[in-house]
Amino acid sequence: MRNSTLKSRFEDKFIPEPNSGCWIWTGAVWNTTGHVPRGKIVVGRKVQRLAYRVAYELYVGKIAKGLSVCHKCDNPICVNPSHLFLGTSADNMRDKVRKGRAKAGSGYNGKPRSDQITYNQGEANGRSQLTNNQAKLILTSSLPVSKLSEKYGVSRRVINSIKSRRSWKLLSSGDQTCDTRFVPI
Ligand SMILES: [Zn+2]
Repeated sequence: MRNSTLKSRFEDKFIPEPNSGCWIWTGAVWNTTGHVPRGKIVVGRKVQRLAYRVAYELYVGKIAKGLSVCHKCDNPICVNPSHLFLGTSADNMRDKVRKGRAKAGSGYNGKPRSDQITYNQGEANGRSQLTNNQAKLILTSSLPVSKLSEKYGVSRRVINSIKSRRSWKLLSSGDQTCDTRFVPI
């Protein structure tokens, strides 16, 4: 899909908010357990990406591997490129902690761990992390969802989201988004 097409579709899907200057995404929204909703946009056959990452690439430039796109305005639904900045996942998490958005029990220990996927289930639950390898094992396991949920200490909903490859795909390492390694396809 050519960038000009993507850009014109992108520009149909937000409205500028005059007070904050935020560009409020009005297109489809990606809802992930424990995360605030964020805009998403189709960028190719069966591929969707976070709208604000696409905004950054359309208006600012390429996002180097492993970097997160973060919001100066702390409004995850905003896609205004001038409100976005690049940071590491650790920057993003520090920023969240500073702004009081990180929840207790998310299991984050202050160090970026490149092979780890964090599921914040919205409740205090220290056992809410899976590694890429564990996610792959879950994908290929023939155990029932309830057993996998017990075995890995995550909710059935998380197991189901990994199992249903219709809606989720595991990204290769180094291609992480701001705060999750899974993207809808
Ligand atoms: Zn904004």
